[in-house]
Order: sequence, then C-alpha cells, then structure tokens
Amino acid sequence: MKQASPNDMMEMLRRYDTWVFDCDGTLWRGQALIEGVADALQLLRDLGKKVLFVTNNSTKSRKAFKVKFDQLQLPVDQAEIYSSSHSAAAYLQSIGFKKKAYVCGERGIMEELAAAGIAAVGGPDDNDRRLEGRPVEIDPEIGAVVCGADPGLSYFKVTYASLCLRHNPGCLFIATNTDSRGHFIEKQEWPGAGATVAAVQAVVGMEPIVTGKPSPFMLRDVCAAHATTPDRMIMVGDRLDTDIAWGHATGMATLLVLTGITGRDDLAAEWGRPGFQRPDYVMASFGDLMGISAA
Ligand code: PLP
Ligand code: CA
Repeated sequence: MKQASPNDMMEMLRRYDTWVFDCDGTLWRGQALIEGVADALQLLRDLGKKVLFVTNNSTKSRKAFKVKFDQLQLPVDQAEIYSSSHSAAAYLQSIGFKKKAYVCGERGIMEELAAAGIAAVGGPDDNDRRLEGRPVEIDPEIGAVVCGADPGLSYFKVTYASLCLRHNPGCLFIATNTDSRGHFIEKQEWPGAGATVAAVQAVVGMEPIVTGKPSPFMLRDVCAAHATTPDRMIMVGDRLDTDIAWGHATGMATLLVLTGITGRDDLAAEWGRPGFQRPDYVMASFGDLMGISAA
C-alpha cells in the first residue's frame, strides 16, 4: 500500500475540480474536527474547487447538518450538503411518489420527507407502541417503508414495517444506507442503518432500494444540482464499502483517508482480496494536504 506523495497530491489538484467529502471519519470524528481538515478545505476553495459533502448519516436533515458544520466553524452552503435522509426523500420525489411513507428511523428522515412534500408516519414518534397480542391495523395508504439508523427501533416498528411491505400492494422497501456501524461515540461504534434494514429484510425477504452511498442514485442527484460529471470528481472517504465502492460504481476517482473506519492494518489485510475496493489514492489524513501547500 502506497500513500499519496506530494506529486500525487499535486496531480489530484490538477485533475479534479469537484471534491466530494464523506463526513464522519474524514472531516470529523463524532463531535471533533480532524486536525488540518478545515485549512485543507479552505485551500480547495481558494483554488476555485467545488466542494461537496455526502454523508450516509440519516439521523439528521441537511438543515441540521448545516448547523453542525457551523458549530465546527466549517464554512458551507446547505446546498453543498447531501445526507442519506435527503437521498431517500429525493428518490421518492424522483419517481413521483404520492402515497404515505412509514419510517423506521430518526427525525432527519421525517424532516427531509416533509421538505419533499411526502406525508410520513412512524419515526421517533412511534417508538413507544407495543404489540398487544392482536392484529395490527395497517394504513393502506402507506406505499413505502423507509429504513435508516433507528435508536428507537422496536419489535413493533419492525412488525409494522414488515406488514406494510407484505400486505400493501407495491409497497417500496427503501434503505437510506446499509452501513453496519454508525454513531461513533468515543471508542464505541453503534449499529448503523444496516441493522434496521437487516431486521426488516429478515422478515420480508425483499431486497431494499438503497439510496445513499454507494448507490449511483445519490450521485445523479448531486451532479444534477451542481452541473458536474463524475470524470471531474474525486471522492474522499474513510470506508471501502461505501465511499470507495461509490466512486467505483459511478466513475469518480477515489481517495481513502485513514482517519476513520479503515485503519492501516485493515487496508493491508484487504489489499488484493477478491472484491477489494482499491482506492486510487491513500492519505493518512486529508489534513496532510496542507503539507504540500507549505512545501
Ligand atoms: N449512519 C449513522 C447513524 C452515523 O451516525 C454515521 C456517522 O456518524 C454514519 C452513518 C456514517 O456517516 P458518514 O457517511 O458521514 O461516514
Ligand atoms: Ca465516513
């Protein structure tokens, strides 16, 4: 495994005019900004690069992420931020969805669906319902189940979601993303949206439509809004199975950083294995970009 040299970094700066950043593990870890990243982002902006942010975290809306960027003093326009909560709503909007959605997930999904004009039930307001030994009444107007990371996931919610999918004709099974782990709190990782999706999938045996990374849908949404194409873009992220796989699925170049989920040892172990998502470039941290500008 070879890390990007100063020449590689210069080449990246020459070749790519749209830089797409994963958030957790690339810009920040939990609530803490990664050293050097704010200056490196500013350098890109000073060079006239387009800078976009794409997170699989479905718990917040784009608006709420803007607040987080502001708190971390990272200058950003809300239109530069994409979350998997937004991608689920954008997907339903793109197919002209007119029914109601049932949400196994957090407030971020509810807010994005509302912003897209899609009626939604479930979400955090449905965390307290329990099965009571008799059939559950399903709303026949529910035409999509949207699953994301859900700290309030209950047996009731999995039951309700599964019944909608099995009994409402044509009901869509949407996954904001299928990350195995999310929520990085100090040294712990908590279950990601993949756990919610797997629980429902185990009952219904259907494949979900995934709208976040590595789904090409999410990139179509980004490119349409920012008038750019994958050949001019580089994806910077910490996960092989979402960020780097997304670049491979869509034709963006890829830069893996080792500040998040993929450590040096993980990368060495994965390198060359069948199915390995080989990044075009590797950097210990995106903050290291400042090294070349000082050189
Ligand atoms: N899902 C959840 C619930 C998370 O909390 C996180 C990270 O905080 C993620 C997914 C991954 O987000 P990202 O794509 O920014 O790494
Ligand atoms: Ca990440």
